[in-house]
Amino acid sequence: MAGRQAAGASPGNSGCSEPGRHVAVVDLKKKHLAQMIAHARDEAPLEACGILAGKQDRVVEVYRARNADCSPLSYRLDPEEQYRIFLDIEDKGLDILGIYHSHPTSPAVPSNADLKQAYYPEATYFVVSLADPAEAQVRAFRIADGQVTEEEMVVV
Ligand SMILES: [Zn+2]
Repeated sequence: MAGRQAAGASPGNSGCSEPGRHVAVVDLKKKHLAQMIAHARDEAPLEACGILAGKQDRVVEVYRARNADCSPLSYRLDPEEQYRIFLDIEDKGLDILGIYHSHPTSPAVPSNADLKQAYYPEATYFVVSLADPAEAQVRAFRIADGQVTEEEMVVV
């Protein structure tokens, strides 16, 4: 993710989380999953990407963003859109909780390129796989220092 990072330098840092706290669970609603999957299907065969915002590890809003790469194999959040989304998140008093993107034909695991461009160690990276067209799969990961840890998703 290139470009402005001012608003997103510390995603999840709302002042009430202890430094270094590792949260392995993320809370989201069925509709948020459905929104990410719908976006992935709308953009296929290209990768889709976007941002999840919320409070205290609970997702409140899913923001679609443009994939500036326009590619079936990679994604890059459009920097201007990303900046606008960050401002909106700030306006609403929410935190940036995660970044999602889709894998139109490959499994829901981060690729090597995904690891390299994971600039937000506190964010949750959601990968939506459409490899099985009948049943989209979504998995969540924490990516820090090139290390990938799967997170538990609690869908309420
Ligand atoms: Zn990927």
